[in-house]
Amino acid sequence: QPKRFLGQNFLVDGNIVRKSLELAGITAADTVVEVGPGLGTLTSALLEAGAEVWAVEKDRQLHAHLTETLVPAHPRLHLMEGDAMEEPLAGLPPEKSAAFKIVANLPYAISTPWMDAVLSGPLPVRMVLMLQQEAAQRYVAQPGTKLFGSISIFMQSAYVIEPGHRVGSGCFFPKPDIESVLLNLGRQPAPFVFPAATKALIRACFQQRRKQLGSILRDKVPAETLARWFARLEAAGHGPSSRAEQVPVALWREFMV
Ligand code: SAM
Repeated sequence: QPKRFLGQNFLVDGNIVRKSLELAGITAADTVVEVGPGLGTLTSALLEAGAEVWAVEKDRQLHAHLTETLVPAHPRLHLMEGDAMEEPLAGLPPEKSAAFKIVANLPYAISTPWMDAVLSGPLPVRMVLMLQQEAAQRYVAQPGTKLFGSISIFMQSAYVIEPGHRVGSGCFFPKPDIESVLLNLGRQPAPFVFPAATKALIRACFQQRRKQLGSILRDKVPAETLARWFARLEAAGHGPSSRAEQVPVALWREFMV
């Protein structure tokens, strides 16, 4: 019986599985991280393509099921029972993290915070992700729109977001209530990773979207650093009285540097 609170909507459409592998360009040379292998539909396809797979599953029963059915036949599968919020890369060893991909049909409740953690690096060269449409819209959102937020900034600074493919709810069991999108993200040639402290400040700015940046940041950032950034903002037609959602991604990249 699928567990709703774990976002268990299993893929039952072989075409979507094939499409995911094709978009990710999976070959036997690949190291792949998967979050939430579930019944192992994507996992099996990845393994059959010859990839080495690191996967983390939170559901104890599903983990036990995969341990019985998939693990014995696949020495290239490294399966871990755990929470992807604590192990965003499924225990991928550091020596493998220079070149890896992520392919996953994500549990929708954690997709944005999990993505935020992944964007702290090490960065996968490519991600092919099944997401709720709204999460995908947040990643591509532009300044001045409601969905523009810290995740848009972190994502657009590190990845090229290719147009998504809408996936009908009939491709899952049980059918989700929301629209899904298969998103293909390629790492930029010179990806920008925000330091943790900067990320925290940017998130804080968006938690008070209606407040002016000057009043949010005055107590949190050294006066000199802030004055330098505000001067840059003003030169670009923004200023201390702007709100977070009006500032373009390129200017956020200059924040705190
Ligand atoms: N990959 C499978 C598929 O495509 O059929 C299952 C996808 S289902 C949308 C999401 C999976 O993530 C479920 O197996 C669920 O148990 C697991 N899951 C939910 N929350 C998780 C978490 N915090 N960490 C790891 N796995 C999680």
